Amino acid sequence: MSTPFLWHNGRIKPWAEATVHVSTHALHYGSSVFEGERVYATPEGPAYFRLADHTRRLFESARVYEIDIGYTEDEINDACLDVIRANRMASAYVRPIVFRGAGGLGVLPRDGAPVDVAIMAMEWGAYLGEAAERGADVCVSSWNRAAPNTFPSWAKAGGNYLSSQLIGLEARRGGFDEGIALGYNGLLSEGAGENLFLVKRGKLLTPPSSAGILAGITRDSVITLANDLGYVVQERDLPREALYSADEVFMTGTAAEITPVRSVDRKKVGNGTPGPITRALRDAFFGLFDGRTQDRYGWLTSVNAV
Ligand code: PMP
Repeated sequence: MSTPFLWHNGRIKPWAEATVHVSTHALHYGSSVFEGERVYATPEGPAYFRLADHTRRLFESARVYEIDIGYTEDEINDACLDVIRANRMASAYVRPIVFRGAGGLGVLPRDGAPVDVAIMAMEWGAYLGEAAERGADVCVSSWNRAAPNTFPSWAKAGGNYLSSQLIGLEARRGGFDEGIALGYNGLLSEGAGENLFLVKRGKLLTPPSSAGILAGITRDSVITLANDLGYVVQERDLPREALYSADEVFMTGTAAEITPVRSVDRKKVGNGTPGPITRALRDAFFGLFDGRTQDRYGWLTSVNAV
């Protein structure tokens, strides 16, 4: 999965040179914040999707945990562009990560303890493999998402992904592509690494941003595109059974993009194939990258523009 170069603490360097010590704070205590971004091949060359929004969320996540990134948002945006140029990539999945480094084994970081910043790019196709086209088989997890005021779900922090691993491992053991978690209150929350949408009688429904979810950038993009296409979108509390009576279900995320769901807990969704609204939204979304959908909101940042 490696590429020749990455960006680490201010400069582009060979992939193999970016190593950390075993005493790294984040390794012991989950104290990292990170992003997942995509660069798409467009007719005008490689372009980031919503780069500035991802960088802003990275800084917001760091603020929650009082981690000083030590660079400006502009510097991180430029570094993201540099990584793609250095590796001469046409498309990529990009992983910026900020983490507390090697500065002592105390849980509470010492003042001035080191913070590392790295940006990796890699080739990565559809996250859920062929499920992206045929539809994913998902289950409702026996693990709930963290309650409010425990692990903040809006912060995209490394530690939160222990919850995602429990959900994902259980799903895989059961032969499913992905698991969907309920929140602390038993209502629908999100997938292990995706936000969740349902279609019911032509309307789009999605759990609200207070449902213990990561406020996904793909989720926000889908809401915007759906409004542009004239669909009604409601962000509201949804019980588990809404999944079983939905006409369509799909999941969104930078890695998962827009992945249709064809069954939940072995019960077929609709007729078991991606539904018309899911397909229309996928068309509009992927149309952004081949020019069929106008980039009305300035979501694309060209990598090679001077
Ligand atoms: N929820 C979780 C838990 C995630 O890890 C992700 C992927 N970052 C998402 C939702 C989707 O967020 P985004 O669309 O910003 O990638």
